[in-house]
Amino acid sequence: MNTAIKGLHHVTSLASDAAQNNRFFTRTLGLRRVKKTVNFDAPEVYHLYYADGAGTPGTVMTYFPFPGARRGRRGTGEAGETAFAIPQGASAFWQERLAAAGVSGIAAEERFGERRLSFAGPDGDGFALVETAADGRTPWTGADVPEEAAIRGFHSVTLTLREAGPTEALLEGWGYAAAGEEGRLRRLALAGGNGAHILDIVVASDAPPAEQGAGSVHHIAFAVEDRAAQAKVQEALAAAGHQVTPVIDRDYFYAIYFRSPGGVLFEVATHEPGFDRDEAPERLGEALKLPKQHAHLRAELERHLPPIGD
Ligand code: ZN
Repeated sequence: MNTAIKGLHHVTSLASDAAQNNRFFTRTLGLRRVKKTVNFDAPEVYHLYYADGAGTPGTVMTYFPFPGARRGRRGTGEAGETAFAIPQGASAFWQERLAAAGVSGIAAEERFGERRLSFAGPDGDGFALVETAADGRTPWTGADVPEEAAIRGFHSVTLTLREAGPTEALLEGWGYAAAGEEGRLRRLALAGGNGAHILDIVVASDAPPAEQGAGSVHHIAFAVEDRAAQAKVQEALAAAGHQVTPVIDRDYFYAIYFRSPGGVLFEVATHEPGFDRDEAPERLGEALKLPKQHAHLRAELERHLPPIGD
């Protein structure tokens, strides 16, 4: 068994409007924008990162806002819901706050004995806030959300798959273990994980494949400590027949990617070097940061990229 995986590192999704996306995450959800950069492959599009105060792996929600992008369609082969952990008893605060912000689809539910509030993001993104006992992670409190209600980081993602078996086998190889079944839901959890170490799988064998667009998760990334641990995961994946990419330098982490058996794009990303490699911790997310291969485009990008506010 390969135990290098710690849980989630980040979740990356698609949006249709950068300013709206920034407002939703920094104002409504009260996360910190820890990086404002551009898509490596499409530098005319932002890559925005929202997280705790430091950009700790397991708390990092990232977006590619393609202006005017069409909404995605829900289906199989995707991460259909991203859940954030909140302290026990904080649902009432959030129910009121989300409603006041005009958020749609707010519903109080219970899953595996945990109270949760599901809701839709600005592009119909599937989100939930889950009350979690004993989450020791320190939240960002720079917004107006009180510490006793603030988001601690990811709780889990829910994968919607035609069949669970091959994806479960892959995750079990990383140390995840079955942690419950409820209706069509199967829960996997990683002992000793980083707080973002739960994955739920909903089996929808009769549903059509998802179509990616605004509001869809593009990929989910799992965390490893460093490049040495990543190399071991990469080697094991290749040995098991997965088509895994070479290591790609993403400036704030090193990444490898592969298509998981259920169709969801998986990434394995390192803790190193982190989001403070090019900005002081107290200034994270303020300046437009460009990957070095796009540095020569700065003047053009600063003219072209829409303003998004603080
Ligand atoms: Zn990624």
